[in-house]
Amino acid sequence: MGVVRFAKTHISNLGELEPQNLKLGKPAHRGYLPPVVLTQAVSSLYIHVPFCAHKCEYCAFYSEASQGEVISRYVSALVRELELVADDLKSQTVFFGGGTPSILTLKQWEQILRTMERLNLTGAGEWTVECNPATVSLDKAKLLRDFGVNRISMGVQSLDEKLLDRLGRIHSREQVFRSFDTLRQAGFENLDVDLMFAIPGQTMDIWRATLDEALALQSEHLSCYEVIYEQDTPLYAQLQAGEFDVDEDLACDMYEELIERAAGKGFQQYEVANFAKDNSERGDRLKAELRTSDPAIPAQACRHNVNYWRGGDYYGLGPSATGYVRGERTRNWANTQMYCEQIEKGNRAFESREMLTPLKRAGETAAFGLRMNAGWPFEGFERATGFDLRNEWAGDMESLAQRGWAEIRPERFQLNKQGLRFADAAAEVFLR
Ligand code: SF4
Repeated sequence: MGVVRFAKTHISNLGELEPQNLKLGKPAHRGYLPPVVLTQAVSSLYIHVPFCAHKCEYCAFYSEASQGEVISRYVSALVRELELVADDLKSQTVFFGGGTPSILTLKQWEQILRTMERLNLTGAGEWTVECNPATVSLDKAKLLRDFGVNRISMGVQSLDEKLLDRLGRIHSREQVFRSFDTLRQAGFENLDVDLMFAIPGQTMDIWRATLDEALALQSEHLSCYEVIYEQDTPLYAQLQAGEFDVDEDLACDMYEELIERAAGKGFQQYEVANFAKDNSERGDRLKAELRTSDPAIPAQACRHNVNYWRGGDYYGLGPSATGYVRGERTRNWANTQMYCEQIEKGNRAFESREMLTPLKRAGETAAFGLRMNAGWPFEGFERATGFDLRNEWAGDMESLAQRGWAEIRPERFQLNKQGLRFADAAAEVFLR
């Protein structure tokens, strides 16, 4: 019996149901600039930084190993794209993902941060930047902190040197510990550590050792993803060539081990692959601010991702970024040059856009939300979508409950431990 495969995504850690992985509609009317509707401003912003020092063996995200001129041009285009949407944004959460956002130089970061300050886009309650341990410096960390970044997500993946090599990561285990200290020194009180399991060559002992060392870092948040084999990646080609086998049972045991050890160190699992602390004063304040304020969501959960899972609106800027605003899903060109060309002409850089029907959107929202341990409170779902789960999806909920994957409670529907293992399959029945 294999565990559900939850893909690591830099955008939102949503797994296979992540918006950018869902089928998008016909190509956009390129160059069309939507009118800014002066209703409630959008409260979440995702920015994709599509550059990495080196492509990892398993990576299917849009990123490239570029330098110099290409990156400068991207930064200028991003500044312009921020200007295009700023009037419709009042960000409670901001997330810079990639790629490797920390690869940008101090000067490039300064250009972006000063723009955000000028456009009143700083001050988000949660502002995350993804970092690779090899590209963290005290100067950069302090600069980010000074402008209001208050959460760092660190792509560690493993603390075993051989496996880091195997994955094509550019950092060493020593750099993980050093960077973690540097970030604390710069004043970051909310740190996330990303790990991967079921890596070819990873034994249970290696996984336990990595988990123990990672948990000893005492981060506030932990994300752990099973390796997935995406087509067009070197790791997939190696699997196809029979260079190694996938051991589903071992993957399953590793997942169990993760849940047990994380709980033992005070982490509360709140999504298939995400764990957070729920115990600091600051955490309690964050919890009070959580848009969903569901008591089943721990205080230091990633609010940006909770917004995705709860069906909230968000702007997505940068090459390949997906956005969802007032019923319309958009996706930017997954090509930095095309992205820059469109923005330089004064356009948005949409490769596709699709107006979702309310029922389709509600089905997706149900599917995303079920990845969370809290499942869907019936009232919250109705508030978010206008639909009552107990009417539209009564039969689906019943059949999942009969299969032993879910519980129907008086106030909510949620997957149980067994169901969470197969969250993608379970969630699929809700799509319309
Ligand atoms: S750091 Fe590796 S996994 Fe992350 S986007 Fe870059 S190449 Fe992909």
